[in-house]
Amino acid sequence: MKIHEYQAKELLGAYGVPVPTGTVAETPEAAEAAARAYETCVVKAQIHSGGRGKAGGVKLAHSPAEAREIAAGLLGATLVTKQTGPAGKQVHKLLITEAVAVKKEYYLSITGDSERAGLVIVASAAGGTEIEETAKTHPEQIVQVPVSVLMGFRRYEGLETAHRIGIPAALEQDFIRLLADMTRLYLEKDCSLVEINPLVETEDGRLLALDAKVNFDDNALLRHPELAALRDIAEEDPKEYRASQYDLNYISLDGNIGCLVNGAGLAMATMDIIQKFGGQPANFLDVGGSATAEKVTAAFEILLSDPNVKAILVNIFGGIMKCDIIAEGIVAAAAKTGITVPLVVRLEGTNVDRGREILRQSGLNIIPAADMADGARKAVEGARGGAAQ
Ligand code: GDP
Ligand code: MN
Repeated sequence: MKIHEYQAKELLGAYGVPVPTGTVAETPEAAEAAARAYETCVVKAQIHSGGRGKAGGVKLAHSPAEAREIAAGLLGATLVTKQTGPAGKQVHKLLITEAVAVKKEYYLSITGDSERAGLVIVASAAGGTEIEETAKTHPEQIVQVPVSVLMGFRRYEGLETAHRIGIPAALEQDFIRLLADMTRLYLEKDCSLVEINPLVETEDGRLLALDAKVNFDDNALLRHPELAALRDIAEEDPKEYRASQYDLNYISLDGNIGCLVNGAGLAMATMDIIQKFGGQPANFLDVGGSATAEKVTAAFEILLSDPNVKAILVNIFGGIMKCDIIAEGIVAAAAKTGITVPLVVRLEGTNVDRGREILRQSGLNIIPAADMADGARKAVEGARGGAAQ
């Protein structure tokens, strides 16, 4: 789960990390009122994406009137950043924050490291909006310091990081404390990323988190009911949100063949074989091992709500779940949702004969597939508008 910058800063602040003051505004008037607290302020679009600065979503205002003007331009506008994709994200909230005189920008984050089975501090003296470019062109400028997940953060790991990115000696202790606080937040709230970019050294010699990103591990959210309040559904793909309500593992993709599969491995293989036959999957969807008719119906509705979907490939292996139950679910869902695109179904496994019989007798225009390759080929043809039967 992702949250907004202002929420990430509140959390970091609560853990002891120094953050600039700020106020959230949802109207130009509120932005103007908030800006009265400052001589100069920064108006920042709150969307679940980085790269806002380069997209015009972070602007300096020298007066409350200017803040109001900038806010009027940003609210309701769509920002297209490197991370949003071409559709961009609409701005509903702004953060009005004190403008800080910056001496130096660093990059600092902590994240999971599956290779080392632990955590890793990622840091750089070349912080700021060019960090992704730096990672590509000068990877040696990005420093990694592993942290044991069992021992937790150690001061010497902080000192090593400080030395390697050139934190001034006078700020070393503050830097180590800041890293300790970040790590505590990471572990206590089951994060997948805590990132400060830029972490700045101010002209008056302090460390300050000028931007912040905190992502949480979705699988651990049930341990943190307090985090549910931070969720902003307006920022999420509506299809992915609906899928999460039905406990479906769904990820939106750019292609035009909707996939409905049970099991993550089979779902991956299905996406591969669609591409092998020249098609592009519109989604990853694993309905899980215990899909009910209700879940299958929800899955169909989600697939059909995507205007890009020109054909659907159902690829089910009935193991724990029986093929006849799945077939009944498909028929019920197809009848309820009124599928208008070619529907290719490949069923295999327990009670497969009864399952195929149910599909045949349903009177629905279902295109049966003999195996995965046959199913993928027919789905690709169907999406192209060809006669797949
Ligand atoms: P991002 O582009 O989405 O990562 O948004 P940031 O919050 O990182 O803002 C982009 C850039 O704006 C930062 O990297 C800073 O260089 C600059 N910036 C943001 N706030 C301030 C500020 O208070 N003072 C100064 N001097 N620069 C700022
Ligand atoms: Mn940033």
